[in-house]
Amino acid sequence: MTEELRRGAHRVGQVKEVTSLANPIVKDIKALTNKKDREQSGTFMAEGLKLVIDALELGWTIRTLVYAKAAKGKPLVEQVAAKTVARGGLVLEVSEKVLSSITRRDNPQMVVGIFDQKWARLPDLELTSDKTYVSLDRVRDPGNLGTIIRTADAAGASGVILLGECTDPFSLETVRATMGSIFAVPLVRATAEEFLAWRKGGAMELVATHLAGAADYRSVDYTKNPVVLLMGNEQSGLPDLLAKAADRLVRIPQQGRADSLNLAVATAVMLFEARRHLLVLEDDE
Ligand code: SAM
Repeated sequence: MTEELRRGAHRVGQVKEVTSLANPIVKDIKALTNKKDREQSGTFMAEGLKLVIDALELGWTIRTLVYAKAAKGKPLVEQVAAKTVARGGLVLEVSEKVLSSITRRDNPQMVVGIFDQKWARLPDLELTSDKTYVSLDRVRDPGNLGTIIRTADAAGASGVILLGECTDPFSLETVRATMGSIFAVPLVRATAEEFLAWRKGGAMELVATHLAGAADYRSVDYTKNPVVLLMGNEQSGLPDLLAKAADRLVRIPQQGRADSLNLAVATAVMLFEARRHLLVLEDDE
């Protein structure tokens, strides 16, 4: 990773024009498709003007703004470019060929932002009775994780906790599937042991979902304590260590031939039930 990309612009006030795929900054950005490079740089890529505007509003640190030549002069693009420069970031104006190659898409979005990753810690999570958290044991599928982050945002959950070896929430595929919610939902990573120690230290209702759960998920009182939902891995479900630590082991009743629900679907069902008492249509407020 070049020093320029890592630290942001030294050319404050300037926009750099790039048309060559061999440009070292472009190479660095393209390398962000690799987890190792994302981890080393502590950055990730998000596509789309609206996402970039939202991220800046939410206080995320932008390192580099990339936009297509065709977007030059558009007022909103000029505004985000000015903000990026004001915050010490680098602005690149690139050809569509370069943008396609960065995003690996034929019809790329006109704007791409490279942001610093952000992680919360378990002790940062507020434990008041209106809070709901989703914890995911070894989630593997980037699309599932992105969908869960988006759903957690929509349901008003306050964070997603990733337990053990999970797929990277900052991968391009996951970020795409979050549809911008990556910037709105705090993410925590922890080992199962750290999670269990945290759970012992605070008052919360730990509700684990399991195909062998004896209780109907609708029988739980989700209103008294902060709720932490615990969801299992796509293939193997929840390990005993985690299932045993739960206050409740619940199941979503099913009919038909399917053995189980997709993880993201099961998480959505649980989230909207756990927060049913807190969710109202805006017209009803
Ligand atoms: N073969 C896995 C098993 O035996 O647990 C199936 C895992 S399922 C695809 C992934 C996760 O979704 C489960 O660990 C659980 O958290 C949740 N899940 C799916 N269907 C569920 C149901 N009917 N009731 C409760 N949880 C469910």
